[in-house]
Amino acid sequence: MELVEKRKCCGCSACYNVCLKDAIVMKEDNEGFKYPIINDELCVNCGLCRKACPVLTVPPAVKIRKCYAAFSKNETNRLNSSSGGIFDLIARFFLGNNDYIAGACFDEKFSLNHIITNKVEDLEKLKGSKYIQSNINFLYCEIRDALPANKVMFVGTPCQVAGLKSFLGKENDNLYTVGLFCHGVPSSKIFHKYLHEMEERYKDKIHRIEFRNKEAGWSTYQVKITMGHRIYVGKNQDDNYMQLFLQDVCLRPSCERCAFKLYSQVSDLVLGDFWGIDNVYPELNDQKGISAVVVRTVKGKELMRSISKDLVLKECTLKNITDGNPGAAHSVLVDQDKRRGVFEHMEALSMDELKKKYAATSFKTRCKNELKKVWGKWGQ
Ligand SMILES: Cc1cc2nc3c(=O)[nH]c(=O)nc-3n(C[C@H](O)[C@H](O)[C@H](O)COP(=O)(O)OP(=O)(O)OC[C@H]3O[C@@H](n4cnc5c(N)ncnc54)[C@H](O)[C@@H]3O)c2cc1C
Ligand code: SF4
Ligand code: SF4
Ligand code: SF4
Repeated sequence: MELVEKRKCCGCSACYNVCLKDAIVMKEDNEGFKYPIINDELCVNCGLCRKACPVLTVPPAVKIRKCYAAFSKNETNRLNSSSGGIFDLIARFFLGNNDYIAGACFDEKFSLNHIITNKVEDLEKLKGSKYIQSNINFLYCEIRDALPANKVMFVGTPCQVAGLKSFLGKENDNLYTVGLFCHGVPSSKIFHKYLHEMEERYKDKIHRIEFRNKEAGWSTYQVKITMGHRIYVGKNQDDNYMQLFLQDVCLRPSCERCAFKLYSQVSDLVLGDFWGIDNVYPELNDQKGISAVVVRTVKGKELMRSISKDLVLKECTLKNITDGNPGAAHSVLVDQDKRRGVFEHMEALSMDELKKKYAATSFKTRCKNELKKVWGKWGQ
């Protein structure tokens, strides 16, 4: 039995968390995305999963109150974060009060899992965008169990925030939600193929991967992989995995018609990169990372107030943000022939070959990127 049409299922796991009969498992398909599979023998047709599914019952969007360009005054923590380090500040505020945060971190096999913690030593591994879909496992149940006695701040993709809220069913005073601008999540099969080929190529073991290393600047971010004996650094436009991701040829099908984009988000606060900052506040752009912050609720305001003394903050309009970051508000347009090619040939072709065949960067784009870099240096 299929709960929702497969191409619409975002994999949020709300159905999996809500089923009292353990009749649902989240199973990876041949592209490397997890979907709920219902065991008809265990299912008692109670309807809880349909009620909790944010795709079947899309929660009403929360209105936008204020928009900002912002970054953390703590330069080290900002440089270790993907954008302006806003998540780091909010997380420290919660952990400082012995409250809980929930976010995504890799385990030793590079599976990405959402965890809940009140330990400050867990913060570093939670920080930073990981470009793969995280496993929610039974996290929504763990959050529900923690909420009566504790405040919890959840950060995740907008569909995960919607999944959590649908699972809980009603507003909870102790829950704070932070959604990310999200252009989509790539296949975990492709990601693990990439890691495997890197280990083979360099005859070394991977210990750490940073998708948004800022050593060459924030807008010219690069992938940095720390292995036992060497460090690999790949510019966005050269790295096989990043190209397949950024050219949208290995994303989850639901990301092509995302029901949870910026205008329909349900989180208290939304965070993304302020890519258009040079057209709004060029003096802020020191290439260390600027966040776009969208405040939607009273709780979102409360979160911003709690970290305001540690922030550089400038108010702006939503248009200022979306003009430089259209992907925040609109789903990606996918070249279906290329996407099909990637998944049909992912076993037979190497990552090099997949990139060359289905995600090659045009000469024009390369020139634009090089110009952007030179311009970025002059602008500093
Ligand atoms: C898959 C993905 C796609 C994104 N797409 C865009 C985009 O198109 N445009 C844009 O402006 N911004 C995008 N972002 C958001 C951006 O990369 C930053 O995460 C955001 O600006 C917050 O930055 P920060 O410095 O405050 O925090 P960061 O240090 O980046 O921390 C972000 C938090 O997000 C959580 N997280 C990391 N990876 C995942 C994941 N895969 N799934 C769920 N939660 C995760 C971590 O737990 C961490 O707590 C995306 C993020 C992800 C994860
Ligand atoms: S209908 Fe009820 S028992 Fe069946 S899968 Fe859904 S939640 Fe589980
Ligand atoms: S609740 Fe989430 S995982 Fe389950 S069917 Fe709906 S969208 Fe898919
Ligand atoms: S693009 Fe939409 S459906 Fe895809 S992961 Fe992001 S929020 Fe979920």
